[in-house]
Amino acid sequence: MSSRRSFLAHALTLAGSAVGASGIFAASSALNGVESRTLTLLRKGYPNLIHDLTTDPDGLRKFLTIGESRARVPFEDGKAGKSFEELLENPDLAECVADPYPLDLNRTKWPVNFDPGRIRLDGFFRAIYGDSQNAVRAHLVTVDFCGHKVAFNRCNGAAEALARAGRKIASLVEADPKLKPHVETLGGTFAWRTIEGTSRLSAHSFAVSIDLNPSLGAYWRWSKGASLEEMKLRKAYPVSIVSAFESEGFIWGGKWYHFDLMHFEYRPEYFG
Ligand SMILES: [Zn+2]
Repeated sequence: MSSRRSFLAHALTLAGSAVGASGIFAASSALNGVESRTLTLLRKGYPNLIHDLTTDPDGLRKFLTIGESRARVPFEDGKAGKSFEELLENPDLAECVADPYPLDLNRTKWPVNFDPGRIRLDGFFRAIYGDSQNAVRAHLVTVDFCGHKVAFNRCNGAAEALARAGRKIASLVEADPKLKPHVETLGGTFAWRTIEGTSRLSAHSFAVSIDLNPSLGAYWRWSKGASLEEMKLRKAYPVSIVSAFESEGFIWGGKWYHFDLMHFEYRPEYFG
């Protein structure tokens, strides 16, 4: 989708070449603004897990080595003109972080297909959090979240971030009991499964997501007839809970056009 690429070029040239001087990426050719921004966000969000950037001999494709296994994942695949569905199915890392995550809800309609964080590269999550169900299981620790014992991935500080968010939310609930139903019942954390209606792995597979009370957090697929642009549902959700999560590096599915209001996901790259 050329308009998307244009948006990227426009929005990201501001980032300049802040990363290129580090030396670690010397194997790569010069970085454009999109690439520099992507690397900066990933290096801040995943310290010590982002390694070498290399370029194919033809200069069209760039790859990043990631994680302890040094998995090589597409950083810039050189494919322009992807449809929204193609971006969901087969993104590169630059496309995964292209949409800036907004900290507010100050708009009258949610932009069509604006889903910051919903475009995910499976290989990236596998490299950071575990390449199989058993590998993820080996990284699970138990976190106390508002009185529940939940399993979360300890890699890259995810479990510690959830514990901190949980303490903040427990204090909020104590001060305002109206919030309690949101955390009295949880939808869950770890489940090695695909996203409903797709063959893509859910972020729950990597134990970096938590669903609060599903009956109080609408999901677009279950909300037949709802307008996905509508702000009412999003604005009705407790902003204090959302802010507590965001302050610890979690994005909220309420800030997706394809909304998932119960869903919070550890994505520290969005808060660099
Ligand atoms: Zn979820």
